[in-house]
Amino acid sequence: MEYEVVIGLEVHAEMATRTKMFCSCPVVDSTQAEPNTTVCPVCAGMPGVLPVVNKQAVEYGMKVGLALGCTINHTSLFDRKNYFYPDLPKGYQISQYEHPLASDGLLVVDTSKGEKAIRIRRAHLEEDTGKLTHVEENGQNYSLVDLNRCGVPLLEIVTEPDIRSIEEAKAYATTLRGILRALGVNSGDMEKGVIRFEANISVREAGTDVLNNRVEIKNLNSFRAMERGIAYEIDRQIKIMESGGTVAQETLGWDEANGCTYTQRSKEDAHDYRYFPEPDLPPLVVDPDWVHRVRASLPELPRARAQRYQADFGLTVADSALLAADTTVAEFFEKTAAAANGVPGKTVAAWILGEVGAYLNRTGENFENLKIKPETLADLLTRMGNGEVNAATAKVILSTLLEKGGTAGEIIKAQGLQQTSDLDLIASLVAKALAENPSELESYKNGKETVANWFFGQVMRMAGGKANPQVVREELARQLKKA
Ligand code: ADP
Ligand code: MG
Ligand code: ZN
Repeated sequence: MEYEVVIGLEVHAEMATRTKMFCSCPVVDSTQAEPNTTVCPVCAGMPGVLPVVNKQAVEYGMKVGLALGCTINHTSLFDRKNYFYPDLPKGYQISQYEHPLASDGLLVVDTSKGEKAIRIRRAHLEEDTGKLTHVEENGQNYSLVDLNRCGVPLLEIVTEPDIRSIEEAKAYATTLRGILRALGVNSGDMEKGVIRFEANISVREAGTDVLNNRVEIKNLNSFRAMERGIAYEIDRQIKIMESGGTVAQETLGWDEANGCTYTQRSKEDAHDYRYFPEPDLPPLVVDPDWVHRVRASLPELPRARAQRYQADFGLTVADSALLAADTTVAEFFEKTAAAANGVPGKTVAAWILGEVGAYLNRTGENFENLKIKPETLADLLTRMGNGEVNAATAKVILSTLLEKGGTAGEIIKAQGLQQTSDLDLIASLVAKALAENPSELESYKNGKETVANWFFGQVMRMAGGKANPQVVREELARQLKKA
């Protein structure tokens, strides 16, 4: 039997607001701040306190909703979702249930098989929980709780079960991350836990429409964990079906170290949470004017940007997607392309993705911290374009610029890297190369044309790599013809 996987993703994205969802405690980098230093009676869940909605978080949620083509609902409601965890001091989470902030959107992503449209069911606001650290030491087991993250605004974005492969799940997740970053509502720093995934997975006979029992894998904190978790579940479920069994509907955890899922609990239903309207918050009303203003403020999103690069610069789908995925990289590319005189956008793209990319991979540096400015790279590429330096020399100059900073002009002057197009000099070098290598010249004359390339290499080496390759080729062709 042929199987097909059905996946729905739930993404929890922290909203990078200055303060928390319902109080004025600052939102801090959870990997930096001392535990339990940004907590107040509201987010610590003391009795008798009142939550107040963070307007900025609502606006960020609206931005995401609009970027995903959702309807922003005029009135949405906050509900209490009750459950008891040590990192949730109130004993409930304020969330949205039947009336979310945004609903019915669509995200189109690119895969190796072409475009895929994934429907967005809803995007709703809620608050994050605290963090538990489990400690085992001196034969004792205990857990430490840090409430800094309690009450940090979260947007939960839920798809319809439209995803049909691991590749599509990954494309969805990376595209969504790119949008969140482009909107400036989330840093996208996965290692800091600002985006977390939950994957709902079922398997069915290919070509049917049934929705079989699904599992939900919680706490997938990286793209890799998400991919591995889904792959593991597809395998496990197919095995169960092949042996005539049924997959149990349950909630699973992901064991990163052992690369497997494990049962956390049988799937809870909504009634297990005893949702009821949050009595301390009025309905959230967003007037159409506000929605209109937020829509008008949306920046160009990565996919539109990539399409523009394809149209304007003739870049490939893959290259344009790489450049447009990150606003910092995209802006660097655009500034360089604009400042580079007479240099095709394709060349600029190739140098950023090739040389600069290789440098970042090698050193582990961040694009944000590059020592080179767009104007500096543009100047170097312009000099290469008009023949002042050749490509090989430009690469050497670029690596100096990346490591030490400075300008191309300074480096060319200091190291005497100026390219020469001096015809007399080049002609004499070509003549010398031919005279010194009679047997190679002979085999060229006997029809071995590749020897021309070998001679080209000789002349370039004699010129210390500084000869204009175009002029060398022309002069070489001329003298070979004569010989
Ligand atoms: P809950 O509210 O219990 O979390 P939902 O029905 O809202 O469940 O669905 C949660 C997620 O599970 C959604 O992303 C949805 O697309 C996905 N989903 C629903 N049914 C299935 C299924 N049979 N197989 C895979 N994913 C599913
Ligand atoms: Mg769920
Ligand atoms: Zn607080």
